[in-house]
Amino acid sequence: MPTEIRHFIAGAETPGRSGRFAPVFNPATGEQTGSVALANGAEVDAAVAAAKRAFPDWAKTPPLRRARILNKFLGLLEANIDTLAAAITAEHGKVLSDAKGEIQRGIEVVEFATAAPQLLKGEFTENVGTRVDSHSLRQPIGVVAGITPFNFPAMVPMWMFPVALAAGNCFILKPSERDPSASLLIAGWLKEAGLPDGVFSVVQGDKEAVDALLHHPDIQAVSFVGSTPIARYIYQTAAQTGKRAQALGGAKNHMIVMPDADLDQTVDALMGAAYGSAGERCMAISVAVPVGEKTADALIERLIPKVRALKVGPGTDPEAEMGPLVTAQHRDKVSSYIDKGVAEGAEILVDGRGLKLQGYEDGYFLGGTLFDRVTEDMTIYKEEIFGPVLCVARAADYASAARMINSHEFGNGVAIFTRDGDAAREFAHDIQVGMVGINVPIPVPMAFHSFGGWKASLFGDHHMHGMEGVRFYTRLKTITSRWPTGIRAGAEFIMPTMK
Ligand code: NAD
Repeated sequence: MPTEIRHFIAGAETPGRSGRFAPVFNPATGEQTGSVALANGAEVDAAVAAAKRAFPDWAKTPPLRRARILNKFLGLLEANIDTLAAAITAEHGKVLSDAKGEIQRGIEVVEFATAAPQLLKGEFTENVGTRVDSHSLRQPIGVVAGITPFNFPAMVPMWMFPVALAAGNCFILKPSERDPSASLLIAGWLKEAGLPDGVFSVVQGDKEAVDALLHHPDIQAVSFVGSTPIARYIYQTAAQTGKRAQALGGAKNHMIVMPDADLDQTVDALMGAAYGSAGERCMAISVAVPVGEKTADALIERLIPKVRALKVGPGTDPEAEMGPLVTAQHRDKVSSYIDKGVAEGAEILVDGRGLKLQGYEDGYFLGGTLFDRVTEDMTIYKEEIFGPVLCVARAADYASAARMINSHEFGNGVAIFTRDGDAAREFAHDIQVGMVGINVPIPVPMAFHSFGGWKASLFGDHHMHGMEGVRFYTRLKTITSRWPTGIRAGAEFIMPTMK
């Protein structure tokens, strides 16, 4: 019997009451392991009500005390990293070392958030006018929600809630229904660390729960990470319902390979960036853009044997470099993109379709796939595939490589591999992409910087975590004060000028 994966509301795991459930699978075996409750409006209301009750006390709790709770949570995360990684691998499929890597990146945001007293410091100006002082402070905004994708079931929620909680907000997480268990482990450890009930809740669910959150009058802000059509929908609906929103969408990340790049280093970087986590990363490199035919030929020659030699296996196999895809439907979708690439005339050099692993015949595996001579009009170039498929799109020179990237719908991450500082500097300055790597294939900003793309990769004004996160989860208040000795008699009707 698959176990029921529940909500976590008002400090306790709560069984689903809507009567709706979704199956959760182990992608390596194809076996259904869980049944996740799908919340309805009433269940979302219960979580929001608990958060609203908890908010006044939590908002008034000194930031230092909030930080201490996050510190304890940090210790629990570190102590239980193996348990959390195993839960991720069991439902997502990624290899265990990669699951630990995502937790580590999440831990770094918790570490950042434990600096709450420093992060929330305001500004003070003495004598903005004679005997008049002004100070500004950042206050929490209230109950906020986070809606997260399947590909990082621990890290992406941790981009959001540590900063939101540190700033004094109450947080409701709506995780992906495909790998929902990590969220419950996190909720349990937050409670164990001393977080008051209601400050952090989990509502499991699908569109119905998301819509209930988006339309709830007591939710002040929504953070979203997922595909671009849904990100756009979240942003537009949040705007209509008067909420703050940051909605991170899909990606198509390019890597320019300049003729002077160290090709061995580039190929190693490309392999990890394209095929790590089976390409199910928003920062995966899915398009390599070698500059010049000679560079392209040399790159391809080195890539082919490495893609063929990729070790595909269940995430629990310590030898495996790449696990299965998350669901059978997603595997089939990626496979049909490969069909389309062939039909549209791209040159398939390594074909990962139809891979069957002995002992795991029902798993959702797909081998690494490599296309050459991909052009801008092809579907596999234009759309996000989100699988282990690397497209090589040759460019005649640097200018056409940069133009190609700047013309793309997405602008999440990008990289250049070169030894030329001048080219790298020009690239970093001019490229229309939010996160740029120079000889770094996956330029994910650290927790104390902020994560976010441009164009159709992000809707909203704020990137996630770092000071952008602090700004997103707080409201600015500016107080101007004058004490009795300085107050003159009589009303003034002109614009205050702080004489
Ligand atoms: P998704 O858009 O299908 O789902 C994301 C979340 O939205 C889930 O919680 C899901 O339940 C919910 N959702 C799905 N359909 C909905 C609908 N019609 N209405 C309301 N809510 C809905 O994304 P996914 O498949 O889980 O994740 C993969 C996508 O996420 C990729 O496009 C990837 O690029 C993107 N992603 C982006 C970033 C980034 O930082 N930009 C990071 C990670 C993942």
